[in-house]
Amino acid sequence: MGSCNSIPTANGGDTTSSTTPPPHQPQPAQLTKGLTILTASEPAPPRYPPPATVGRVLGRPMEDVRNTYTMGRELGRGQFGVTYLVTHKITRKKYACKSIAMRKLINKDDIEDVRREVQIMHHLTGHRNIVELRGAYEDKHSVNLVMELCAGGELFDRIIAKGHYSERAAAGLCRQMMTVVHQCHTMGVFHRDLKPENFLLLSTDEDSPLKATDFGLSVFFKPGDVHKDLVGSAYYVAPEVLRRHYGAEADIWSAGVILYILLSGVPPFWGETEKTIFEAVLRGDLDFVSDPWPSISSSAKDLVKKMLQADPKSRLTSVEVLNHPWMRKDGDASDKPIDIAVLTRMKQFRAMNKLKKVALKVIAENLSEEEIIGLKEIFKSMDTDNSGTITLEELKAGLPKLGTKLSESEVRQLMEAADVDGNGTIDYIEFITATMHLNRVEREDHLYKAFEYFDKDKSGYITVEELEHALKKYNMGDEKTIKEIITEVDTDNDGNINYDEFAAMMRKGNPEMVPNRRRK
Ligand code: ADP
Ligand code: MG
Repeated sequence: MGSCNSIPTANGGDTTSSTTPPPHQPQPAQLTKGLTILTASEPAPPRYPPPATVGRVLGRPMEDVRNTYTMGRELGRGQFGVTYLVTHKITRKKYACKSIAMRKLINKDDIEDVRREVQIMHHLTGHRNIVELRGAYEDKHSVNLVMELCAGGELFDRIIAKGHYSERAAAGLCRQMMTVVHQCHTMGVFHRDLKPENFLLLSTDEDSPLKATDFGLSVFFKPGDVHKDLVGSAYYVAPEVLRRHYGAEADIWSAGVILYILLSGVPPFWGETEKTIFEAVLRGDLDFVSDPWPSISSSAKDLVKKMLQADPKSRLTSVEVLNHPWMRKDGDASDKPIDIAVLTRMKQFRAMNKLKKVALKVIAENLSEEEIIGLKEIFKSMDTDNSGTITLEELKAGLPKLGTKLSESEVRQLMEAADVDGNGTIDYIEFITATMHLNRVEREDHLYKAFEYFDKDKSGYITVEELEHALKKYNMGDEKTIKEIITEVDTDNDGNINYDEFAAMMRKGNPEMVPNRRRK
């Protein structure tokens, strides 16, 4: 959801058809937070949970978030949501819970926006600069998104407290912001509401990581899509958005505006009213004369100028921003632009043993629709003839669209890796399996389900016979492979694979995964 300075949301999901313009209400647009939005009056939880009916927003059984979490103080609020501090009743761990009141979800588009927000958060999960979604709940009165707590507050407040940042600090923050934009764009997500209020600090530490939140206006996109909805927030909105003909380059503009503010403490396009801000955006003149600009490096100004190019086609892309000399300054190797996410995942997948691949397939088959909707979009964009499978040719044509150049033989290797059953094409489940984020595997329920799939007789062990059976099903079951797998995975050498060994194998080579605490 856009927060209080947002332009009213139009039909957020519709990217190609022309939509009726949203009612245009001029809103105060100063660089302070308006806190004048209605207070949500939270209803008392029902004493006995009613029989699980399916919610109309999330389409899954209704569940009161208060059964699992205790609600605490308010952390912040935007246009649609009020975010509360919550505590898990059993683990006592603290989270943030964004509560969206049902009564604010008036039309179909509002509901669609919330649904998409959940899908997109699931899709982007696992990036260190994106707030992790832990769960989504719907009851009669509200939709509740439980996520990782960012105790350091909004970037917005830090900027205000500091006035402006050193170039070095600004570069560090901007780099984190840009890795988020890059991750979004390579995952087919267009954020559309980048602004300091939607970047939070994980902790109050000086060097706390920055986390992007609020995907309420985000949409899935394919290169070449034309968007027409007037959404975003006045200061950060790109000129082509005001002209209602835009694509994901608009995110780079918004990030450029944030960078300008980080360096100088004031927004580049300023006005007393929304209308005069829009006029300034359309003029696009940049003030590099007033303080502190004369003392700011020409390299920083060069980057700002290139991010705030009026013509979206000549604006820098996320990769180009990350490679800009100013951005790279002081950056160590880990700040190098990350590779195309889908590609990285396919490469990792290639290196896995066969048991792990089959186990991931089992997990992929068990994921909910909303957890894979983003990858499904990427799959669909590659499957140009809508056959339900991707051929080598389609993969070759699709990867450059994601922004990557690969040699013929590399594409062939990726194809072979993802084609689990070896029939020469990649089907939908194979694509999901090879490209879903390994973070999903961390989830205990997923891991356990996969183990149970192999352990047919529920003995607590995967035996040689069980492994043989499962691998045969996927045309991977020659005797040599099975022997190799057992030797590799069976660390206590008893000839079987127990749950701990299985879990250890699944986590191996995935440094992001936390060790399994619950089952030990
Ligand atoms: P809206 O869609 O209504 O703008 P947001 O998702 O931006 O809602 O959340 C509103 C505010 O709540 C944020 O600007 C921030 O202050 C606070 N907030 C949101 N998510 C978190 C979080 N994970 N941790 C701490 N505070 C949060
Ligand atoms: Mg917000």
